Amino acid sequence: TEYLDRLREKEPDVKSFLHISSSALDEAAEIDGRLARGDDPGPLAGIPIAIKDNLCTQGMPSTGGSRILDGYRPPYDATAVKRLKESGAVLIGKTNLDEFGMGSSTESSAYQVTSNPWDLSRVPGGSSGGSAAAVAAGQCACALGSDTGGSIRQPASFCGVVGLKPTYGRVSRFGLMAYASSLDVVGCLGTSVDDVSLLLNAIAGHDPADATSSSKVVPNYLKALVPAKELPGNPLAGMKFGIIKETIGEGVEPAVAQVVKNAVVHLEKLGAVVQEVSLPTFSLGLPAYYVLAASEASSNLSRYDGIRYGPRVVADELNAMYGASRGQGFGAEVKRRILMGTYALSAGYYDAFYKRAQQVRTLIQQDFKKALEDGHILLSPVAPSPAFKIGEKVLDPLSMYLGDLMTVNVNMAGLPALSLPCGLIEDEGSKLPVGLQLIGNAFEEATKDQHLYYRA
Ligand code: GLN
Repeated sequence: TEYLDRLREKEPDVKSFLHISSSALDEAAEIDGRLARGDDPGPLAGIPIAIKDNLCTQGMPSTGGSRILDGYRPPYDATAVKRLKESGAVLIGKTNLDEFGMGSSTESSAYQVTSNPWDLSRVPGGSSGGSAAAVAAGQCACALGSDTGGSIRQPASFCGVVGLKPTYGRVSRFGLMAYASSLDVVGCLGTSVDDVSLLLNAIAGHDPADATSSSKVVPNYLKALVPAKELPGNPLAGMKFGIIKETIGEGVEPAVAQVVKNAVVHLEKLGAVVQEVSLPTFSLGLPAYYVLAASEASSNLSRYDGIRYGPRVVADELNAMYGASRGQGFGAEVKRRILMGTYALSAGYYDAFYKRAQQVRTLIQQDFKKALEDGHILLSPVAPSPAFKIGEKVLDPLSMYLGDLMTVNVNMAGLPALSLPCGLIEDEGSKLPVGLQLIGNAFEEATKDQHLYYRA
């Protein structure tokens, strides 16, 4: 009740939800009943969780932030959603996002613009902006998001919450509306590392419905956390961090770089060793990502044809019906991506764009492998700036894309990364949070001797 009250109170200002569940209280009461009967309702019993609207929820609207799925109610739950329900969570509603995850500010939603709870004139980041804003505003305890090129980490950074992008394949993508299948990951947002660990415990693991989901054993992420009091003195002694040189120089706002450098000093005070590491091909990542993500998107979005899902524009002839349904159903950013992707994949351009981008992807992976081999956990800012003003970048897609500089490479390498609030900066009278990105080896979200999840 407390969360639902706050959800309703804050919603007119923040607008993080596209749908609010009408059965959340009944579900919570049912879980109370199970508790009263002495049954075990699961590790997430009664916890109100919001779900990004590109994850299918049975019987609840699931639009992906697109008009082309207006009114669509899936007949099934995404695996991550199903696992949350099985753990006793209460789904409180569906959160706003950039249409099909394409964007970095949530302004590309076909439905509404979400505000950043720290300053309502600013964006919450994106594409999981609704999920991050909802957690920051206390409208839910935790939320699910998806991350193709930073969509959990960057909004977490902008809204001052914790965001975890798991290793590619750690969480099933079944029931996630596909954007770029080789990069998409379902992950968690919460107010603490404990919360995202608890959530990851529930959703991680193999799923026969997603052939790319890993069958590696799922550790208990919450148990892997080391409480600070058990590590007196220099709690981070023996830990090695590498701050990525290419992410704290040109292209980053000095105030952001400063907050991250302060965090580095703090880590050193706690006993860690922090070195500067270089990833020579780092800057090639962003253009390669946009070629690959758009290429995969152009193929994935061909399923929205006006026949299988959502509204159909009636026309005399089949191609005209496709054209009109897609023309009216998709927004400007999605059309831009489809055009870019179709171009990059077309005969005559394939080698110059798609193939080259795949080669760059390999270089990025090799750079990370080398840097992580030394036992480092890599550090960087999550984004080059704090939350920007609503409307500031929406007409300039290139400047929007540039903001993804620090996050996209991690998806191309499939690695896990955490966005952790590490300080505030002041901008035009507003205090704005800044996130620190921690990047680890694949499937080492909970490696004990690396304390990736050291609980401060
Ligand atoms: N902003 C990036 C994009 O538009 C990343 C989005 C995401 O991770 N879904 O592609």
